[in-house]
Amino acid sequence: MQPFAYQRASDAASAVSLAARPTSEPPTRAPAQFLAGGTNIVDYMRLNVMRPEVLVDLNGLDGQYGRVEAGPQGLRLGAMARMSDVADQEAVRRDYPLIAESLLLAASAQIRNMGALGGNVLQRTRCPYFRDTAWGACNKREPGTGCAALNGVNRKHAVLGTSEHCIATYPGDFAQALVALGATVETLRPRGSRRLLVEELHRTPSDAPHIETVLEPGELITGFDIPAGPWTRRSLYLKIRDRQSFEFALASAAVALDLDGDVVREARIALGGVATKPWRAREAEAALLGKVLTAEVAHEAARAAFGSAVTHGGNDDKPELGRRTLVRALMQAKAMEV
Ligand code: SF4
Repeated sequence: MQPFAYQRASDAASAVSLAARPTSEPPTRAPAQFLAGGTNIVDYMRLNVMRPEVLVDLNGLDGQYGRVEAGPQGLRLGAMARMSDVADQEAVRRDYPLIAESLLLAASAQIRNMGALGGNVLQRTRCPYFRDTAWGACNKREPGTGCAALNGVNRKHAVLGTSEHCIATYPGDFAQALVALGATVETLRPRGSRRLLVEELHRTPSDAPHIETVLEPGELITGFDIPAGPWTRRSLYLKIRDRQSFEFALASAAVALDLDGDVVREARIALGGVATKPWRAREAEAALLGKVLTAEVAHEAARAAFGSAVTHGGNDDKPELGRRTLVRALMQAKAMEV
């Protein structure tokens, strides 16, 4: 770990001004980084993958940005709210089970107690070549060096949204739940606040894998808003992984359904473990619309979801795993009593 300066922010505006130092780098490479739970940034600093000069501690902002508020318009989650606190809220478990499950399945209890929502959605890939600086070829860590995973060990790598420059999987769970439910993210930057769909927050790698989001250096996530809808109660998160106790997803599905009897009035689906960003599966949603939800229709939707999948040898099984995960999630959501 390299030496760094530590600064504690007293409010959101001062946090942004402390972090918004002039740089042409994307936020993940900028010299100033935010510190909330520290479960990701400290990890990467120890590994020497990220070397910020300044850490801006946000933990004094818990009171203002750590709240969870459920109302008729929807659910408001402060970015500093801890994963475990949100998952424990009765209103979240009852009315937004997808949100609660995505947080409960995301990490060990210790990590959930520390991890803040804002940092959780920005967690970086677990690609082993990215995390180990002994590997020279990693376009995400060092742009222009190549991608060791393309012809390396890539069993856990993505099959959707990849490019010839990077096939790293987005590792989170909670962001998929937000994307499926059409949530917006609110941010603060030096020239004011803005709001955008969580679906628009992350970028696919394209030819610049080191730029992972549309955030600017110093732009702070302050909260998330999940609109109320007839699909939020019939929603779930299904995560398939190598071990049940704690592991990142090999494939996951965030599903929310609005049914009229067995007919799909609306389906909202996001996939994890298989894509380079939280992946809204619009083709699958369209394949379900207006249909009686049978296993056969669910399989059709799952085939549509992976129509553009590209594999790289070690992950040749991922499209099939992803399809089966989505089919099971859809049928489980249908069977929910709401
Ligand atoms: Fe780096 Fe992405 Fe290739 Fe992994 S998949 S080695 S993160 S460029």
